[in-house]
Parts: sequence; C-alpha cells; structure tokens
Amino acid sequence: MTYLGNTYNFFGAKRRPLPVHAKGGCFVEDARGHWWICFHVKVDALPQAPDVAVGIDLGLKTLAALSTGEKIEAPRSYRLYEDKLIIAQRANNKTRVQALHAKITNIRQDHMHKWTTKIARSYRQIFVGNVSSSQLAKTRMAKSVYDAGWSMSRNTLRYKASRHGGVFQEVDEVSTFTTQTCSTTGMLPPERPRGIAGLGVREWWCSACGETHDRDVNAARNILALGLSAKPLAEESRAAHGRQPDKHASKELRNRLSI
Ligand SMILES: [Zn+2]
Repeated sequence: MTYLGNTYNFFGAKRRPLPVHAKGGCFVEDARGHWWICFHVKVDALPQAPDVAVGIDLGLKTLAALSTGEKIEAPRSYRLYEDKLIIAQRANNKTRVQALHAKITNIRQDHMHKWTTKIARSYRQIFVGNVSSSQLAKTRMAKSVYDAGWSMSRNTLRYKASRHGGVFQEVDEVSTFTTQTCSTTGMLPPERPRGIAGLGVREWWCSACGETHDRDVNAARNILALGLSAKPLAEESRAAHGRQPDKHASKELRNRLSI
C-alpha cells in the first residue's frame, strides 16, 4: 500500500486482505511498540438472529452463565499464561511481562469476541445483569479487572446485537436479588446464597420448592424473566449500582414474574 508517498507492507495481509473501499484509516502503536493500521469501512447488516430471548449472568470464574444452562468459561490457555506471567514478574523480566500481558489480552479478547458473536447470532433479545464488582470482589485491583471485563462484554454484546437486528438490555440484578431468588418459584427461601459469603456457593437447594439450583444459571433465568416482563432498565436503576438490596425489591421481582 502506498500512503503519502511511502510504501507499506502488511503482515497477515494474505490471511485478511486489506479492504478495497476503505473510507479512511489511521496508524496505531500499541504498548509493545507494534504498529497496526485501522480502516474505516462500511459493513452490511448481518442476518437477523432468531426470535429467541436469553438471560446472561456475568461472573468471575465462569465468565457468563446463560438462562439455557450453558456456561462460558475462561479459556484454559489463559491460566497457563497467567502462571508464566507471575514467574516473569518475579524474575523482573520486563520485556517478557509485557509480551505475556499482550498475549493474555489477545486470548481474552479473542474468546470474548467468539462467545459474544455466538450469542448475538442465536438470540434476538439479550438481557444482561448489571452486576458490578463492588458486590463481588474484595480488592481494588480485582475490582477494576472485573469491571473492565464486564463492561467490555456488555458493550460488545450491545453492538453485536444491533448488527444482528437484536435488542440488548441491562437488567437490575442487584436490587432484585437475582442470585438469591428461586427462578422456579420466584421466592426467597431461607436457605440461599447471600452476599460475599454466598459467592463460594455454586449450587443451592431451595427449601421452598425442593429444587437444586446452579447459582449462576438460576441468576441468568431470573434476569431473563425480569427482562421479558419488565420495561427496559431506566437510568436511575443503573445508577443504583452497588446499592444495598432491600426487601421490597424481591417482592417486586415476584410481582414482575406474577407469582
Ligand atoms: Zn425453589
């Protein structure tokens, strides 16, 4: 490619050909000093996703649990590189630390793009809980990592849903006890996972209906029910991030589920 009198060769141009009708572009340098080129292109609308709705509970170890019972786990290779990163950090090997950070980011983003594309192709209505780290993580470092990951997943789902003619909506899961409410009956049984202590609980038995719930899938089902029955989450609910749940909220969930 020739630009302003200079000729550039591109790595990977065989695998991913340069766009013919680019409307412009720019050069970008990343943290490792690698140069990239970004093109501004027009894309066609993608085929519309089938008229199916899904609820998604974003999490920590399990990246996302779906109301269908499916779970999206972090890529395995990710842990391997994290271990290598710790070793490199201890050895104070800065170049290697930087390279491993980049590798981990690539793996994470590649994985995130794959699962969000699959969701946007499969479901027309996508409801995601508005979980934030303030309820989950204990350290500030962990919080920022989780929040960044979750907001990236939400933003990606949002734009992919719109490209597939679908709808993305956030659901207030904090004040509605999605984790603690039984998705079968809409009740808050006495035996249920609560607060940070409840995070270790993967499965719980509901004393109200006798069913055993996977904590994350149960939450995803409540998110789906809330999304389908309620109007889209208003801005004020979103601002309620981190607010302590109150008792009325659970009643509200039951009302919305008309139980
Ligand atoms: Zn139950």
